[in-house]
Amino acid sequence: MSTAELSHGNLWLHFTRTSDWLGDDPTVPTLAKADGCYVWDSKGKRYLDALSALFCAQIGYGHPSMGEVAKAQMDTLPFWTNWSYAHQPALDLAAALAERFPGDLDQFFFVNSGSEAVEAAVKLAQQYHALAGEPTRKLVISRNYAYHGTTLGALGVTGLPGLREAFEPLRPVHHYVPNTNAYRPQHDDPAQAVEDKILELGPENVSLVIAEPVQNAGGCFTPPADYWPRLREICDRHGVLLACDEVITAFGRLGYWTGAEKYGVVPDLLTFAKGVTSAYMPLGGVAFNERVAKIMQLEKTTMFVHGATWGGHPVAAAVALENLRLFDELQVLENVRANEGWFEEQLRGLYDRHEIVGDVRGTGYFWALELVKDRRHKVMFDDAESELLLRGFLSARLLELGMICRADDRDEPVIQLSPPLVADRTILGEIIAILDQVLGEATKRMESW
Ligand code: PLP
Repeated sequence: MSTAELSHGNLWLHFTRTSDWLGDDPTVPTLAKADGCYVWDSKGKRYLDALSALFCAQIGYGHPSMGEVAKAQMDTLPFWTNWSYAHQPALDLAAALAERFPGDLDQFFFVNSGSEAVEAAVKLAQQYHALAGEPTRKLVISRNYAYHGTTLGALGVTGLPGLREAFEPLRPVHHYVPNTNAYRPQHDDPAQAVEDKILELGPENVSLVIAEPVQNAGGCFTPPADYWPRLREICDRHGVLLACDEVITAFGRLGYWTGAEKYGVVPDLLTFAKGVTSAYMPLGGVAFNERVAKIMQLEKTTMFVHGATWGGHPVAAAVALENLRLFDELQVLENVRANEGWFEEQLRGLYDRHEIVGDVRGTGYFWALELVKDRRHKVMFDDAESELLLRGFLSARLLELGMICRADDRDEPVIQLSPPLVADRTILGEIIAILDQVLGEATKRMESW
């Protein structure tokens, strides 16, 4: 088929139904420019970005110094790799992050995305145990419905035995435990469920427990107060490494540099991406502690057997450093902490006004509204109803009313909100007003079913 026959040319979108983009009546906007907390499409329509693009535009759009810094770095050293070389922006970024991350999480390995950060963490944990004399510790425990990225394990198709050795066997090593959904609990003690899984698999086989401080998929599952300290204690007792996947939660999303800090835990590994540059450039990484760092330099010949050409790209690192400077100048963490309570009150107001809202959950600038058919009995929409309501109505109507957020049905149907961290009460109020209207309309639709 010639590209002329495809209504939108040559581009395929990620996780997007082809009918939403390539069909006769495409609903996906083509975005053209952005400023502050707003973005405009190619037809000039303005949208309030209530999702920070994809949980990543922390400082919002239109900060000229980000571009100036990128240009200056391009003029000086546009690229060098961290593969056998260092350069100043990566050194400076590692030092700046070490000041902001909790405890002894002060060693940094940079990559380009969240998925790569998670891959690096899994490999780091496996190699750590291999070097520490426990090569059977390969299994990884994570939580039901948790999203940690999409790469298939590029290593599996890599034909160089030396690169694979420390991670063999390259077969599924993943096990899943209940998450911390408090509205529809999967377990009465989710921290204990992690220990039970470790014992079931045999601690001598378990390498890593990885979880987000607040789980995104399913809709902002916050942890019980003692959850993270208990995971720390359980992992220590069984010799398992603990990782916080903070691809979403780090860099102010919860009002702190890291969710680990908020929940009083120092993991062995911490993965990040998205907000580290406020999405002005792709950059990710894994932070690790002294315990891991020591083992990884056991002998003169020891190295972390991992690498990526672009990891620690100097332009991305320079932009990340400017992002950190702007966080201070714009008082980003302070803004989130000053407004999160007010935002929560407004969201709870939506709950009071709309029976369709079954639960409001989250923290910081990271919230979800779970939609239900019958609040009293917590009855969920079935698949067909969910399709009608979320895909068929809410997603399109929100866009029509000029707001980008996410109506997600990967687990329970939820509306996810994750505004730029510079949003003030006027912007947050605008989000609430649009939701108020849409939820009212959704209820009317349901009544006509
Ligand atoms: N980990 C978490 C917690 C995420 O939310 C995501 C993406 O949303 C990833 C990893 C993967 O990040 P990326 O899309 O940059 O590969």
